Amino acid sequence: MSSVKTATPDGWAENFSYDYYRKLLRTLWTNYEVCTLSEYPDCRSNGKRVAIMRHDIDVCVERAVEMAKFEHEFGIQSTYMVIPDTPLYDIDDARDQLFEITDLGHEIGLHCDLDWETTDDWEGEANIDSGLSLAETKQIEDARRQLESIGIGPVASLSFHQPVDRVLEGPSTIVGMVNAYSWDLMSAYISDSAGRWREGAPIERITRFGMADVLQVLTHPVWWAAEHNPPIERFLTVIDEEFAAVNEQMYNELVSIGPKYGDWTDQMPSSTFTASRWSKRTTASS
Ligand SMILES: [Zn+2]
Repeated sequence: MSSVKTATPDGWAENFSYDYYRKLLRTLWTNYEVCTLSEYPDCRSNGKRVAIMRHDIDVCVERAVEMAKFEHEFGIQSTYMVIPDTPLYDIDDARDQLFEITDLGHEIGLHCDLDWETTDDWEGEANIDSGLSLAETKQIEDARRQLESIGIGPVASLSFHQPVDRVLEGPSTIVGMVNAYSWDLMSAYISDSAGRWREGAPIERITRFGMADVLQVLTHPVWWAAEHNPPIERFLTVIDEEFAAVNEQMYNELVSIGPKYGDWTDQMPSSTFTASRWSKRTTASS
């Protein structure tokens, strides 16, 4: 589609190759003590400059294993956040791969996909501080139990899938887990969400942060490959390789995490669900 080729993201998306990723790791490694999310409170209390390398696994676990391997070669331990209940992968099926990641020294955290609609049952200071309703807090506890049920854990860190504003810059821990969206972990924060680095090229950005005491870098394994591919092409390749067919639930999830530019949804394995919902979303995000 010509619309894919001419579309440009709002941000930097020029290099998602593993070579570039290795350079990014080297930059982190030379400037910071890199630790996992659950290690962060101890690392900070030692007065070190700390970087967190976090990965939110939104689409498939297999590509996360590749990244985990070369991070291990670097001696870097990062944190892989897993959604226990997603239409796009099954944690029971991915159990061996998740253990491969932990065997390489990395951490598995909870990537929590909340409903974000249950805001009428606030009770108690803890909930107001965290920006979470009681029902949402219970969903987090249930999700952690579900992730731990495959033998992972205890799960000690948390990030939200598509977080709403009221939970950003929240408390340092939520339900006893280190919160990736806490105030101090968001003070210097860059991300490749939706297939672009909104703040510009990440290596330059990390270098420019200079003396930031705490830096968090979020990547999503779906965008990265041995050779660079433009994000939309990369996304469509992964969908093609991972999913023989896409039902409505999977389709909606893929649209919500995919690039927010370009007309690419009609190239998905099933384009049965391209009705009004997608039109509204493209309008809202453009
Ligand atoms: Zn996510």
